[in-house]
Amino acid sequence: MAPKRICLIGAGPSGMSVLFQLEKLRKEGVDVPEVVCYEKQSNWGGLWNYTWRTGNDEHGEPIHGSMYRYLWSNGPKEALEFPDYTFEDHYGRAIPSFPPREVLFDYLQGRWKKMGLKEKINFKTVVRMVTFNEETDKFSVVTENLTERNLTSKIQPTEEFDYVFVASGHYSVPYVPTYPGVDRFPGRVMHSHDFRDACEFKDKRILIVGASYSAEDIALQTIKYGASKVICTYRSKPQGYKWPETIEERPIFTHVDGKVVHFSDGTTAEVDAIMFCTGYLHYYPWIEDKLRLRSVNSLYPPNLYKGIIFTPEGHNGGNNKMLYIGTQDQYYTYTMFDVEALWALKYVLGQIDVPDKKTMRANLIGWAERLKSSKDCYADIDFQTDFVLELAKDCNYLDGVDLDVTKIFYDWHHDKEIDVLSYRDKSFTSKFTGTKSPIHHSTFMSALDDSKECFMATK
Ligand code: FAD
Ligand code: NAP
Repeated sequence: MAPKRICLIGAGPSGMSVLFQLEKLRKEGVDVPEVVCYEKQSNWGGLWNYTWRTGNDEHGEPIHGSMYRYLWSNGPKEALEFPDYTFEDHYGRAIPSFPPREVLFDYLQGRWKKMGLKEKINFKTVVRMVTFNEETDKFSVVTENLTERNLTSKIQPTEEFDYVFVASGHYSVPYVPTYPGVDRFPGRVMHSHDFRDACEFKDKRILIVGASYSAEDIALQTIKYGASKVICTYRSKPQGYKWPETIEERPIFTHVDGKVVHFSDGTTAEVDAIMFCTGYLHYYPWIEDKLRLRSVNSLYPPNLYKGIIFTPEGHNGGNNKMLYIGTQDQYYTYTMFDVEALWALKYVLGQIDVPDKKTMRANLIGWAERLKSSKDCYADIDFQTDFVLELAKDCNYLDGVDLDVTKIFYDWHHDKEIDVLSYRDKSFTSKFTGTKSPIHHSTFMSALDDSKECFMATK
């Protein structure tokens, strides 16, 4: 049989897990398929590869990055730690539970460098189109190499693949609704995708639209760096935390008149800036219609068997060979991507069987039904735990290591409910080393320096 070829799109944490697991299998003596990885940025890391840029990059490509300066992990590192590469393995000692972005990125890179994965990536190569030919049973992938000012950039000859793994992320293309009067607002209007430095909002009053993670984090961040007032406006339900006096929540606004915001409860407030923290789109314009995932941000995006194999109703969607990695909304992150990566590779290797299409559809619909009945975040955490554990069992991830961190997530959420300002000052115990992490030398709200050097100065 001719060796199989896989096209891997993206070298963020999900794509890197595919490369990592592939290399690991190779080292174990498995005859692995060829994987060609395309990454449009000039470095690996996906969202963790911080950029100051917003809008378009130097090639005219939309900026992928949505992370900002002073971003600290919003979940305990013990909930995302790799069992085979712990934080203690990387740093040589225990570190606090909620590291800033640079510290997490450094950790990820440590695991990838150990396997020498950088040379496996085609950087500055953007995937322009993915199509599937039923007759040849192969995918055609068109890419373009980006060069300075695009003077010599070239559409590359079309490549043929047996499988496509989409690991392009889904927190990059902002969803930006509008409200009456925003078009005449005399101040800064932006989406959290373009938020970079909170200092810009020193002494400013901000309206934050949305009630999820970005809204919460950017409200705290901007206040931390000197904003005078934040009003978060919610559409469905308030976040409900015990906020400091400088942050409040109000029901959704109806319109803006000049600088005055009108809320649906009849109240008004004057603000200097409006920040839409309204989430992101699953956006794959470079994938042909019949292969394209269409979803909102969800713990179980539709039409994905085991959350991975594209299995739409009707047409065959790439004959079970169009795979998506890391498309779920995320409590679990790095370990979930890692398990999905191994599952996908073992599936391609023929080590995991899938049933007939009707059974696959019934399975994915069953998961989606269960999600519909989930009534709170604790049930959501249970849902994602079961999802991860099932995949891990299917692919015998690390010989059956227990990835269940439900208790850590429950405690973390409980801490937030008690005090949103201090939940990052708590300490958790690593499931894999048994070490309880030290407490950071400064509280989160007082720690203005997010550099690795400063963070690592914790005794
Ligand atoms: P991404 O990190 O988005 O990587 C996708 C890669 O695909 C990118 O490198 C991109 O350039 C590339 N790509 C996209 N399209 C193409 C194309 N057409 N051709 C070639 N390459 C392409 N998770 C945590 O665990 N802890 C946190 O504290 C945390 N904070 C977050 C903060 C913010 C503001 C956001 C938005 C997310 C945060 N996350 C956090 C979640 C984050 O989604 C994951 O940690 C992780 O980055 C997802 O990895 P990924 O590889 O699936 O996607
Ligand atoms: P999100 O979780 O998808 O939330 C989107 C929010 O926008 C929801 O509250 C939604 O309200 C609201 N919304 C959507 N359309 C709206 C409209 N027309 N009017 C008003 N509100 C509207 O997106 P996110 O908060 O950007 O989070 C994305 C990811 O980034 C998460 O994985 C999160 O963990 C991560 N993140 C991490 C950090 C950190 O680690 N420090 C910081 C920020 C973000 P409804 O509930 O009504 O739909």
